[in-house]
Amino acid sequence: MKKILSALLAGAIACTAAFALAGCGGSNNAGSNSSSAASDVESKADEANKGELHMATNAFFEPYEFYENDKIVGIDAEIAEAICEKLGYTLVIDDMDFDSIITAVQSGKADFGMAGMTVTEERKQAIDFTDTYTNAIQVIIVKEGSDKVKSAADLETASIGVQMGTTGDIYVSDFKNATIERYNKGADAVLALTQGKVDAVVIDNEPAKAFVAQNEGLTILEEPFENEEYAICVAKGSDLTAKINTALNELKSEGKVDEIIKKYIKA
Ligand code: GLN
Repeated sequence: MKKILSALLAGAIACTAAFALAGCGGSNNAGSNSSSAASDVESKADEANKGELHMATNAFFEPYEFYENDKIVGIDAEIAEAICEKLGYTLVIDDMDFDSIITAVQSGKADFGMAGMTVTEERKQAIDFTDTYTNAIQVIIVKEGSDKVKSAADLETASIGVQMGTTGDIYVSDFKNATIERYNKGADAVLALTQGKVDAVVIDNEPAKAFVAQNEGLTILEEPFENEEYAICVAKGSDLTAKINTALNELKSEGKVDEIIKKYIKA
C-alpha cells in the first residue's frame, strides 16, 4: 500500500514538475525568443528538440532538494530547471533513494542525477561528473551537551547514523570500532539521534543546519569533518555532460547559480 501510494505520489510530482516547467521546452521556438539572450547552447540544442530530461534525486535534502507542498524545490531543482531552459528541454524530477541515483543514471532510467552529490574518485568509475557548482562540508550532528561525541575523533568508537551510500557513510565506514546505522533518508538518521538510538549523525552541512533548525536539542560540532564539491552525474560517455557544462558555466558567469544558492542559503 505504501509502495503504491509513493508511486502515485512520485507520478504526481513528475507531472507537476513537468507541468510547471512546460514553458522551458516551449521557449525554444527558434528565433522567437527575444527576451532571453540567445546563447550558443540554445542554438546547438535546437536540433534535438527535445522533450524531457529526467533528473534523479532524493528530495529530502533541504536546501538542495525538498518538498514544498507537493512540488520539489531547492538549489538543485532550480539550477536543473535553468539548465533545461537553456538546453530546450522540459525538466522532470524523479524522486528516489539516494542510493539508487547512480544506477538510474547508468541504466538510462534518468538522464542525469543531481542530489547534492559529491564528486568522488570511486563514483567516477561508474558515471561521469559535470563541472562542480558548489562546495560542501561533512559535519557531525550530536545532541546538545553530548559527552559521547565531542569531536571527530570520538566518532571512531561511537554509534553513527548516516544516509545509506552517501559520502558520510563512506567516511565513517573506515572506523572499525564504530557502529554504523544506515538509513534511506537523512531525516531518519536525525530521528534516530533524537531518540538516542545513535550518538551522532554525519551529513552535509546545509541539510544539517535544516535538520537542527527543525529538531530541538541538536547541535552541529564546530569541527568540520570533510570538504567536498557537488556536481551533476551523467552516464559515462554521454554527450549530455558537455551540453550541461556549457549551460552550467553560462549560468555561473551570469551570476544565476550564486543567485539561486543565495535564495536558499541565507548568509
Ligand atoms: N554529498 C553527499 C554525497 O554525495 C550526500 C548527498 C545526499 O545525501 N543527497 O554522498
